[in-house]
This record gives sequence, structure tokens and C-alpha cells, in this order.
Amino acid sequence: MSITHEQTNGNSIQALPSQVEVAVIGAGFSGLATARTLLRAGFDDIVVLERGTDVGGTWRDNDYPGCACDVPSHLYSFSFAPNPEWSSTFSGQPEIQDYIRRVARDEGLLPLVRFGAAVENAAWDEDDRRWTIETARGTLTARHLIAAGGPLSAPAIPEVPGLGSFPGKLMHSAAWDHDHDLSGERVAVIGTGASAIQFVPAIRPEVSRLHLFQRTAPWVMPRPDRQLTRVERRLYRRFPVLQHAMRNAISWAREAFALPMLHPSLARLVRLHGLRHLRKQIPDPALREKVTPDYLPGCKRILISNDYLPSLAKPNVEVIAAGLAEVRGSTVVGADGSEREVDTIIFGTGFHVTDLPIADRIHGRGGRTLADYWDGSLRAHRGTTVAGFPNLFFVLGPNTGTGHTSVLLMAEAQAAYVARALRHLRSQGHGTVEVTPEAEARWNDELQRRMRGTVWTSGGCQSWYLDRNGRNTTLWPDFGFRFRQAVRRFDPAEHSFTPAAVPALPQPEPAAA
Ligand code: NAP
Repeated sequence: MSITHEQTNGNSIQALPSQVEVAVIGAGFSGLATARTLLRAGFDDIVVLERGTDVGGTWRDNDYPGCACDVPSHLYSFSFAPNPEWSSTFSGQPEIQDYIRRVARDEGLLPLVRFGAAVENAAWDEDDRRWTIETARGTLTARHLIAAGGPLSAPAIPEVPGLGSFPGKLMHSAAWDHDHDLSGERVAVIGTGASAIQFVPAIRPEVSRLHLFQRTAPWVMPRPDRQLTRVERRLYRRFPVLQHAMRNAISWAREAFALPMLHPSLARLVRLHGLRHLRKQIPDPALREKVTPDYLPGCKRILISNDYLPSLAKPNVEVIAAGLAEVRGSTVVGADGSEREVDTIIFGTGFHVTDLPIADRIHGRGGRTLADYWDGSLRAHRGTTVAGFPNLFFVLGPNTGTGHTSVLLMAEAQAAYVARALRHLRSQGHGTVEVTPEAEARWNDELQRRMRGTVWTSGGCQSWYLDRNGRNTTLWPDFGFRFRQAVRRFDPAEHSFTPAAVPALPQPEPAAA
């Protein structure tokens, strides 16, 4: 793949090295946090392999109209790079993307990034004890491979009969075509998740008709957003400790949001709150009934919005309480048999999360792929290391997602854990590290035990948190601080190691003349 300077937003295009100590996949929040942490820990032979032409990961790709974060900005930012300039309590995508770019530049991370270097294959070489990584820009080897591509990186479009012959425009929320003019169009929106509830009110005023295919109604709560005042911004600039205190206060307050997820009896109270919001926002009882969820809040991600529900009552919007079943020419057909002719179909249908495409491309010992090892149920030790895959680390790996707090807290803690592991290897003269199957099994058995009785498994819904085997392999089933505790120390007893240098074999005595 060849890329130009313009395509990388002016970021310089560096040659791909042939070998490095650490290769990080992904220059989104988690990949950048990892690179920064490792640099500070004394590992400077790093390359960050980025498939795109800019940093930002999911925040670069998801630039659909109305895209914003539903976690407060003071918390949804790096602990090491507070941003006193946030314009509101919940920032929009452009501001977040600018923030990521700025941090990457200010922290000196851009020179590490190789843009357009999508990882196509990575195989563990048992003899060399290195990873051979094939990218779209060539091949390199690395002692350590860190998968930080994140769970929301591969957009999912459902397989619907007839979709291939739809004559109009198709797009996914994570690949918005801003050159496509929606004004006056008849649009079908598929899905009512976190993305759709943001772009539906944003595009609604310009389209002529919006047919919303709602397979499952989401729980929507009020969005307590407000502009930050100039005085607040000045105070945060002048006294960073204030912003730090605010971040901590938000972080601890958000931990309480985990309670109804861990104890579904409390989710009933959240349900009452959601019903009140519904009553306030949708006066029409028939429409309200159509969009009232029939499962407990938290079972799927709880959404926050003040303009989504009211937009459903607008005259140019129709809620079809069914999934998309088929496409016949330019007609979309719902599972309830309803047919609508449209110009454009927009998929807000989420991502391949429990069937991560990268799992097919990473081959561990014996050439076995991660996908084969996982067999539909992702698992790693402390969300990070996988038995049979030496020197491979995940950041935001299995069971590190959160529905209640900022996932960046998890990513930073995990990046520090990886740095601890690598420092241990260096100090002990080890060349490889691999989690023991026993430690991995113990960790995951305990996670699954804790999943029982949570709202995710007993809340009465099907969600992307659950994999094809019905296991929740995406979320962390506890308070965020407990995860940070769990990765605070790298425990050598849970791992096996091999020496860095292969001991020289004794040389045979020269034969006597
Ligand atoms: P999502 O939550 O996975 O939602 C996908 C939607 O598509 C669901 O409503 C799903 O219905 C629907 N769907 C799938 N196939 C369908 C079909 N054949 N017919 C009709 N509907 C279909 O995806 P997302 O909204 O992109 O959000 C994904 C994640 O991204 C979120 O959970 C969140 O973690 C993150 N996100 C975060 C923010 C933020 O503010 N921080 C914003 C956007 C996204 P079912 O519910 O019936 O499966």
C-alpha cells in the first residue's frame, strides 16, 4: 500500500523497520497509551502499526453526524494528558479526535506510527522466538506483539438476502460517506444502538423519510450535558489539580453505576428512571409502547440522549419494530413483513466484537490461530495474555470492556501491566513469557462465575456482550478499580519463561590428528 503525506494529515511517513523489540497494533486510544507507557518504561524500540492514515482508531472512523462520547470528558481522556479545553461535559467526536492527535504529537508518539500498515498476518516463530508480522506495507519481526486494535474496529453489516443488489447507497455508521447528500432522501436506518441514537436526530431534519428498523428497543436515559464555562476552563488551566479532583470524583461516582449491573434487583430502579424519561419525551402512548424495552437496563448498554426519543415522534420518522429481513430491489423488508422503498440504507449495526477478525490472523505456537484456540469464546489472562501465544499481549482484550465507566482507565492500567511484564523479562534475562494454561483457566472460570446473576446474563436480552456460546467475554464483571488492582502486579508464578539467549551448545573436541 502506498500512502501520501496528505492522507496522513501531515504526519510523516516512516519506513517500516525490518525488526523491532515491540510492535503495537493500532494507534487508537489503547495503542497510543501502550506506546507511551512503554517508552516511559525504557522500551524505545517500538513501532505502532496503524491500518489507517491517521491516529484515533474508532474515534477517527466514527465521524457520523452527532457522534459524541457518552462518558464525561474529564474521565474519557488520558490520566497523563488532562484537557482543560473540553467545551462540554460530554464531548463530540471532532474534539475527541483533535485531542487524540494532539496527545500523540505532544507525547512524541507520531514518529513511532507506521500508517497504512494493516496487519494481515502474525505468526510466532518458535526457532527465532519472535513474531513475524506481515503488514500491508511489508514484513517485519518483533520480539513482542501487542494487540491494541480494540473491540470496536471491524464494522458489522448483517447478512440480509438481496442486500448485494440494492441499487441505492449503503453505509455503516463507522464508515460514513460525508460526500453523500441525504437531503430529501428516503432513508432506512438499521439498528437502535449507541451510534444510531446519535445520528438519527442529527440526520432527521434533512431527510424526507426516515424508517427506523428497531429490532430491540434500547433503554435511553437523560443526557446531563452542558457547556463548560470560560471560568471553569480557566480554572482547570491554572489549577490542574482541580481537574484532577473532578476526574477522580466522576470516576468514583461512576463506579456506583456498576451496582445495578452486578445486582439486577437494583436495575429495576434504573428501569423506573428510564420509564419516566420515556413518558416525558414521548407523550403518544402507542409510540411509547413501541419503544419501551422489555428487558432490564444494563443488559444492553444504557444509552443517554435528550433528542433521540423526541425525534421518533416527528412526522417524517417511522419506527418499524422489527429487524431488517430482506432487501428487494430498492425495497427494504422488515421481519414483520413491512416494506418501504428507500434511497439509502444506513447500518448502525455495531461491530465484530466476539468474532474479532484479528483472531484469524494471529498464529501462536504450532501455527494455531487465536480464533481456533478461542472457539467462539475469547479468553485471556487478566485480559492480556493467552496460553500458547508467547510474547503476545492484549490491551483492551477479552473481558476488559465496561458499561459503567471509562474504558481508558482499563487501557492505561493494562498498558502499565504489559510494561511491568516486559521489565520483568528484561531484568531476569528472559526472552519469552507465556501465561500458564492453569492460570488462564483459573482467571476465566472466576470471571464466568462472577457473570452469573448479573444483568448481562439474567436481564432478559441478547446483546453483543455475549458470544455465540452465550458467554459474556467482553465485559469486566466488577468495579473498575478491581481491575486496576488485578493488573497492578505482574506475577511470574502465573507464567513460564525461556531465556533471552539460547545457551551455546558445548562444542565437540577437535578430533586428534
Ligand atoms: P450496537 O450497540 O451493537 O447496536 C447495533 C444495533 O443494530 C442494535 O440495535 C441491533 O439490534 C441492531 N441490528 C443488528 N442487526 C440488525 C438487523 N438485521 N435488523 C435490525 N437491527 C439490527 O452498535 P453501535 O450502536 O454501533 O454501538 C456499539 C458500541 O460502540 C456501543 O455499545 C458502545 O460501546 C460504543 N459506542 C459508544 C459511544 C459513546 O458515546 N461512547 C457511541 C457509539 C458507540 P439488537 O439490539 O436487536 O441486537
